[in-house]
Amino acid sequence: MDKYKVIIGLEMHCEISETNTKVFSSAENSYNDTPNSNVRPLDMAFPGTLPVVNKEAVKKALMISIALNCKQPEYLYFERKNYYYPDLPKGFQITQETKPAPIGIYGELVYECNGEKKKARINNIHLEEDAASTDHHTTFSTIDYNRAGVPLLELVTEPDFHSSDEAVSFLEAMRSIYKYANVSEADSRKGQIRCDVNVSIMDANLDETDPKNYGTKVEIKNVNSFSGVRDAINYEIKRQIELKETNKYDEMTQQTRRFDETSISTIYMRSKVDAIDYKYFVEPNIPKFKIDPNWIEEIKTLIPTFALQRKENYINNYNLSDYDATILVKEKEVSDYFEETIKLGCNPKSSANWLTSIILGHLNKYELSIKDIYLTPAMLVDLIKMIDDGKISSKQGKQVFYKVLEDKKEPAEIVKEQGMEQIGDEETIREIVVPIIEQHLELIEEYRKGRNVFDFFVGQVMKQTRGKANPSTTAKIIKEEIEKR
Ligand code: ADP
Ligand code: MG
Repeated sequence: MDKYKVIIGLEMHCEISETNTKVFSSAENSYNDTPNSNVRPLDMAFPGTLPVVNKEAVKKALMISIALNCKQPEYLYFERKNYYYPDLPKGFQITQETKPAPIGIYGELVYECNGEKKKARINNIHLEEDAASTDHHTTFSTIDYNRAGVPLLELVTEPDFHSSDEAVSFLEAMRSIYKYANVSEADSRKGQIRCDVNVSIMDANLDETDPKNYGTKVEIKNVNSFSGVRDAINYEIKRQIELKETNKYDEMTQQTRRFDETSISTIYMRSKVDAIDYKYFVEPNIPKFKIDPNWIEEIKTLIPTFALQRKENYINNYNLSDYDATILVKEKEVSDYFEETIKLGCNPKSSANWLTSIILGHLNKYELSIKDIYLTPAMLVDLIKMIDDGKISSKQGKQVFYKVLEDKKEPAEIVKEQGMEQIGDEETIREIVVPIIEQHLELIEEYRKGRNVFDFFVGQVMKQTRGKANPSTTAKIIKEEIEKR
């Protein structure tokens, strides 16, 4: 038994990348452009400018709120979080802090961790604006206001995780939801996801459902990759256990630390004991507005089935392996493609095999997305059908696949052009087999003595048909004809 239990809570920031404009201004929401090119006077806090709420951002935020089973507020309003920093020209961030303002409160997410289902409670999810981005060089710093005002969703969980595995699995599940809902690309390499990780440890024999038993919380700010989250948590657990074991834990104050990627360690930044007072108040320049329940109903219809449910469906109803199902649901476009082939009547196993091996192999090799290839779900269904019907062999099927991509033609057209069509019809094959056998009646005697003559006859049929006869039908008919004599 471990002596200590680990308690982890996450604050996950995800930029809403899939809106045209920023959350309160008409500047383009695309900060990877030339620095400081997507900036409107509001983003620079020019006097007299006023924020206008981006409906699309609110809609996308509500989608996530609903997907996480949160309660949506009756009235939406924003609040000012006041502090000064160069990346925040207004001197305040427009956010949602006080309940019930947030776009969602008290939800939950079921996610999978190492093959086991777990549940994490969501405290709240709120919509806010991102700050500008700063880069620090040796003797100077640069600032890019393209990011200032990009819509940002902050999700705060209850302290429901007990290991770095659980925390990272949850973050991965959330990333998938953001992508499936077309809310965000959720790409941490583009800085779209950033996490604050809260870690504490407690004696294992105490009741973990009572927060009074929790240890002192350490917050690690702005970790910008999932591997960073894992490393930061593991480092912090080790550090805190060491403090316990050396009787120094009680001296530790609530604190904010940062994760240092180079040394894979967390570094003390400041104590949280006298926390900053952000002097929150309701943003006076944005009227409170009522969220129409009909709008919520409409948004509900736009929420797709997410990866975990799709995966379970594939395993339970299509008999796919966990492994294949996991691969198929990784990207929504691939999963949609797979489901389309099934709607068109394809056998799920064959479709899954083609997708997970040949098609995804091809896409990975050339760094393509499934939307980029010429082969539509309908074409894949045709191709699989030709193989299943014995028109072409599966080896030929692969050749047809590459040729479809190359020539941008229908699979049936390629098969015709290449003269690939197999002869599968029994009568046609029999008409070829019978004369061959009659010319070699002496071999039938040999056959009765136990000699293998099949290879010879099959070879003859293949020679005549230039390899197009279906091998198993050919073998069957040869056997029948020999035995007749
Ligand atoms: P603060 O006021 O310091 O921001 P909150 O109560 O808002 O603290 O919690 C922030 C995050 O810290 C939440 O994700 C919460 O789940 C987590 N948290 C709270 N207490 C603990 C604890 N003892 N150990 C680990 N995480 C915690
Ligand atoms: Mg907080």
